[in-house]
Amino acid sequence: MSTEATTLTASEITTRSRCAGVVGAGGGGFPLHAKLSRRPDSPTVDTVIANGAECEPLLHKDAELMAHHAAQIVEGLQLAMAAVGAHHGILGLKSKHIAAIAAFGPLLPGTGIDLHELGDFYPTGDEYILVYETTGRLIPSAGLPLDVGCIVSNVESLYNLAAASRGNPVIRKMVTVAGAVAQPFTGWVPIGVDLAWLIEQAGGATSEDVAYYVGGVMMGKLEHDSSLPVTKTTAGVIVLPGDHHLVQRAETPVAAKHRIGKSACDQCSYCTELCPRYLLGHDLEPHKVMRGLLFSLEGEDTWNHWGTLCCECGLCTLLACPEDLFPREACQQAKADLLPQGRGRLGPRETPVPIQPHPMYESRHTPLKQLVQRLGLTPFDTPSPLRDPDAIPAQFVLPLKQHAGAPAVPCVTVGQRVQQGALIADVGETALGAPLHAPAAGTVRAIDDTQIVLASC
Ligand code: SF4
Ligand code: SF4
Repeated sequence: MSTEATTLTASEITTRSRCAGVVGAGGGGFPLHAKLSRRPDSPTVDTVIANGAECEPLLHKDAELMAHHAAQIVEGLQLAMAAVGAHHGILGLKSKHIAAIAAFGPLLPGTGIDLHELGDFYPTGDEYILVYETTGRLIPSAGLPLDVGCIVSNVESLYNLAAASRGNPVIRKMVTVAGAVAQPFTGWVPIGVDLAWLIEQAGGATSEDVAYYVGGVMMGKLEHDSSLPVTKTTAGVIVLPGDHHLVQRAETPVAAKHRIGKSACDQCSYCTELCPRYLLGHDLEPHKVMRGLLFSLEGEDTWNHWGTLCCECGLCTLLACPEDLFPREACQQAKADLLPQGRGRLGPRETPVPIQPHPMYESRHTPLKQLVQRLGLTPFDTPSPLRDPDAIPAQFVLPLKQHAGAPAVPCVTVGQRVQQGALIADVGETALGAPLHAPAAGTVRAIDDTQIVLASC
């Protein structure tokens, strides 16, 4: 750790994390300072796990970050351990990340941090899987890593925590741009650049009609608008031709997905047999959720609670179902209908149900290579080497809510000039949220309820 960082108290670490706007960079966006803050009644945390498991097909941003910035990730992990009083740190990453393992090796003796090599399967990055694989502990149904004495943080969040300890705010994002582009790459880009700019930096799209999977094809979101900005949670963009099977399936209207499921689900239960949450022992059986479609009434009266523990990993819909049905989407609908009524999801504190991994847990892992092949992504599974674009975007679009919690409130005015790293929107000290900083020097061009637009200069 840097000399300055070693002298920081737990409260200084969380304060610096909050002031720098550090949030979950793997996609979650949960403010890191809130995860690290301890109150007298907080559960004890003995282990902090750095999540470098990165399992979304074609995304490699964590692998590159770990290979090239290992020291800063270790420093961030040590800071997180110090903040919560944990004596044990674990770096969870895949055995295939040889460069990252070599980079971490010499840095770990004497730190209390162990490196845990994971297999190359999906979804290793899911917190329930990662905690079980690295510690042997099972997070209770609907629980959190905290329930088993752990905190999990993405490696980029920890990198950002180390930067925050030196007063540097989060103003850039490590992303992978892959798929139907001429020159896939992985690199740092300023937050607020739009997808069109990203694709330009990747040499342009190789197909005329494309769609964008922001955050990955399994758990990301399909978008068609190239003016959408990169935020603090954007792990990458997979560009796919508009007629790709994945795009076509994702665009099936929800009502049609349910209608098809109703007529075609034969209750084979393959979706359940490969569900990672079911294999960990949780009470989640997507084939039983599909049964809800078989009744004449759809919705809250016929859904059952089995879907409410779904992490939406997509394996059932995109790999397991031989009929190309949509069990994930049925679980999503069940969650949307049942959770607001407080139905279905049993919290660990109310109903502690001991769970036991399925005897076939190990042998039913889904290899990433097989998943890539099944998804029709093999032609796009090419290297996306580290390369930071040097072009300067004309403007940055900065959503006020790129984190969990309340949106940040602008503290600049239209026409105001700001320096790179200047605070442009903030949240109250006690509110859950994260402040926002200028990714580059520029002039505030517009402000509305949802975003700040900054023109670069
Ligand atoms: S795998 Fe498909 S057909 Fe089989 S039970 Fe699940 S949704 Fe139904
Ligand atoms: S998306 Fe499907 S496979 Fe994944 S957790 Fe939910 S039910 Fe299980």
